[in-house]
Amino acid sequence: MALERLDDLYRDAILEHRRNPRNADKLEDFDTTGDAVNPFCGDEIHLQLKQDDKGRITAVGLQGEGCSINRASGSMMSEAAKGKTPTEIRALTDWVRKLMQGDPEAESQLSPEGDLRNLFGVREYPIRIKCALLPWSALDEALSKLSDG
Ligand code: ZN
Repeated sequence: MALERLDDLYRDAILEHRRNPRNADKLEDFDTTGDAVNPFCGDEIHLQLKQDDKGRITAVGLQGEGCSINRASGSMMSEAAKGKTPTEIRALTDWVRKLMQGDPEAESQLSPEGDLRNLFGVREYPIRIKCALLPWSALDEALSKLSDG
């Protein structure tokens, strides 16, 4: 799919995250990791999370390869996950999945997470929804490995 077909707003936000991915440094000190691969388009996500003693995620390391939407979604996710508890992150992940599936209720809650709303534009391109959700799968895996998760 040609990225230029996305609405300008979405495209700009996605390209900006693609160019300047947030939290891209690999964490040396972490509590859990998650990995996800989409062989269909060569996307990969490798994630590290660090928690504080209350379980809140204080640091995120995310290294990605692949298409712009995968990379941008990962960058947005890494920002959104920081400072949240696993329970809060699960609720957010659930919301993102519903949003990408076109759930009208999720859509009505659009914008609580700033940049994440820009992923909404990807919904128009079903083949790219998997790319956008891949980082969130890595996040699920990382949370599932935590003792309090
Ligand atoms: Zn992709």
